[in-house]
Amino acid sequence: MLDLTETTSPPPIETSVLIVGSGSAGLCAAAWLARLNIDFIILEKRDGPLAIGQADGVQCRTVEVFESFGLSDHLVRDAYWVNEVCFWSVPDSDTTDGAANGNTDTNKIVRTGRTADVAEGLSWQPHVILNQARLNAILLDDIRAHGGREVDYGVAVQTVSVDASPPANPHAHAVTVTANQAGQTRTYRAKFVLGADGAHSSVRHSLGYAMVGDTSDAVWGVMDVYARTNFPDIRKKTTIRARAGNLLIIPREGGALVRMYIELPAGTRARAVALPDLHAAAARIFAGYDLEFVDTFWWSAYAIGQRVAERFDAAARVFLSGDACHTHSPKAGQGMNVSLQDGYNMGWKLAYVLQGRAPPELLRTYVGERELTAKTLIDFDREFTKLFSLKSEKDSPDAAKRFREYFIRSGRYTAGLTSRYEDSELTSSAKSRERLATNVTVGMRFPSAQVVRFCDAKAMQLARALQADGRFRIIVFGGDIRKPQCKKSLDSLAAYLSSEESPIYQYTKPEEDVDSVIEPILVLSGERVKMEQEMIPDVFWPVTGKWKLRGRRIHARHFKSALTYNSRPSQDIRGRYEL
Ligand SMILES: Cc1cc2nc3c(=O)[nH]c(=O)nc-3n(C[C@H](O)[C@H](O)[C@H](O)COP(=O)(O)OP(=O)(O)OC[C@H]3O[C@@H](n4cnc5c(N)ncnc54)[C@H](O)[C@@H]3O)c2cc1C
Repeated sequence: MLDLTETTSPPPIETSVLIVGSGSAGLCAAAWLARLNIDFIILEKRDGPLAIGQADGVQCRTVEVFESFGLSDHLVRDAYWVNEVCFWSVPDSDTTDGAANGNTDTNKIVRTGRTADVAEGLSWQPHVILNQARLNAILLDDIRAHGGREVDYGVAVQTVSVDASPPANPHAHAVTVTANQAGQTRTYRAKFVLGADGAHSSVRHSLGYAMVGDTSDAVWGVMDVYARTNFPDIRKKTTIRARAGNLLIIPREGGALVRMYIELPAGTRARAVALPDLHAAAARIFAGYDLEFVDTFWWSAYAIGQRVAERFDAAARVFLSGDACHTHSPKAGQGMNVSLQDGYNMGWKLAYVLQGRAPPELLRTYVGERELTAKTLIDFDREFTKLFSLKSEKDSPDAAKRFREYFIRSGRYTAGLTSRYEDSELTSSAKSRERLATNVTVGMRFPSAQVVRFCDAKAMQLARALQADGRFRIIVFGGDIRKPQCKKSLDSLAAYLSSEESPIYQYTKPEEDVDSVIEPILVLSGERVKMEQEMIPDVFWPVTGKWKLRGRRIHARHFKSALTYNSRPSQDIRGRYEL
């Protein structure tokens, strides 16, 4: 007989993927899972969505990632675009720019240089500034639009444990998670867990993993202010190295708000800092210019540390991502970007394993790829922070110049475009012949180029055709198919791709559209208007879709590039319109 006085705990809640934390890393992974129809739960200890974010610098690469989700237009429309960076310091041996002329006051800061923020050809997308809360909101809307589950707010995860010998079957609910919701303990059983719960990660603590690295004594303040000033570069990204300390200006979206990162005097304790300290320090650094703080929207003070988790996974069932496994100083604007890209790397891989489209070993590539990325980030940040704080003194008279040169040299890195993954289950440079597609480096982000779509003559970036919809793509640089050799090569490749040995047919079920797993995309060179569609083999314009058409959608795969990836190796990938 049932004893009604006995208290029973509710049964565990089961899910395929449990994401801990609704920050950049967690939401980006969830965006993938939602669009690939994988069930997931996001647990978030806050009571609601992020209202005021800390991060705001959005790398070109992150904008590219948003573009692949079809979300970049929202992002760039609302953001501040970082076009130029200015360097200011007290005069030293290298004051070269106009504002320095005639300055005899050695305490007054002068402009010592300026540079384009994104060097030409790095990316077709800009580097922008947009509040992290807004970025998160774009991802939340996208998850909703794809039928993903709403975030469970007010639920703080406490422990995570993997079954003693988890079965190889990825569909076993091998991870147990406990969480606190309004004083009640909730238990979850998940196939996989993504610990995306920030720098003080409970998931990491629960697994017993330490953060390895160091915390320096340097304390920095950060504030978002409305500043009334006659300083000429207040609406540009600007570094100032004054006798009174160092400061970084990041203009914010909306045209009025400005963020300032301020180095505080040696011996300062972060907890002891008050807002008037930051105002006073900034005023000292703006030596020679008026500076009045009309209002301060948000501020904080923090000590710098560069640390990486000793492990990124437990039994290939629990994975750490974002600040949960790498922390560093915010000045180079990397953390949110790298965190978001961790989630981007993991989301589709979890979906592929859960859909049975890839073996669980695929998940190992997440650890290899993102550990390497985190370590590179930590090394970069250590050097960047050291040079930023280096004083122009007797033993380093050219400190300002060295910082400026390092800053410019690091442009490709800070744009998020230097990651190169090593050979793994996914990447094979050893078996690749890179000379066949010069400017494409195996293990790196695929470059884009300006192309003209064959079906409707639309000028567009090739990247726009590479949407994050879970498909693999074979991109064929076919050259000018009016030349017999190019046509012959293309026909022979097409014959292979249409045969039974073709990966397209091996991995696609008979009832599926032929391009639903692997989509071939053809990029041609030569004069587009002298080519006809009949010259292009069928495999590049198959019959697909609800209405089984070879119409608009089919033509969209045919590109006429202004570039030659495979015949003029020295040519830049930037491209141009050629109609
Ligand atoms: C002042 C400042 C400025 C910065 N500026 C930049 C910048 O310009 N560009 C940039 O790229 N980066 C910047 N960063 C870094 C950036 O904010 C972080 O790297 C980024 O937010 C990390 O994302 P995440 O998803 O890993 O973690 P978070 O964004 O920290 O998200 C973690 C989430 O997990 C939740 N959580 C925590 N514990 C639990 C738990 N036990 N249970 C459930 N939920 C939990 C938290 O509430 C939070 O919502 C800055 C950081 C600071 C401090």
